Amino acid sequence: MMERPKRPYRNFAEFLVSIQIYWRQETRQDPFLAVEDLDCNLIKYPCRRCGGAGAIFILHPKGKGQCRSEVEDPCTACQGLGKATKKACQEEYRQVIARWKEEAGKYDRLKEVKRRVLKKLTEEEVQALKELGV
Ligand SMILES: [Zn+2]
Repeated sequence: MMERPKRPYRNFAEFLVSIQIYWRQETRQDPFLAVEDLDCNLIKYPCRRCGGAGAIFILHPKGKGQCRSEVEDPCTACQGLGKATKKACQEEYRQVIARWKEEAGKYDRLKEVKRRVLKKLTEEEVQALKELGV
């Protein structure tokens, strides 16, 4: 049975941290990048597209787990600054939560329909459905 979609972030602060974590995962794989030079912890409201890095890293597999990276510099969303505004981050967060609410709402409505349908059936009918694998 399908599970109810989980809320992706508890709050706005967790959302901001997740953008930074995304950036770290992306860039840690880049052997040519000095991580401390681009520490996104210094950026309170990171650009969502580049995660605060100011650049997009495209990793190309080179065989045996090695990667060659190409830098698209600068990130076009923030002009290479790695920064967004509080307002832009809040809007992004609002959209992410709205999408989740819609999915969770769909799940809840379907669950309610299933409950109502099952209540209308007799025990024998429920048994028959189980045997049919429905
Ligand atoms: Zn950016």
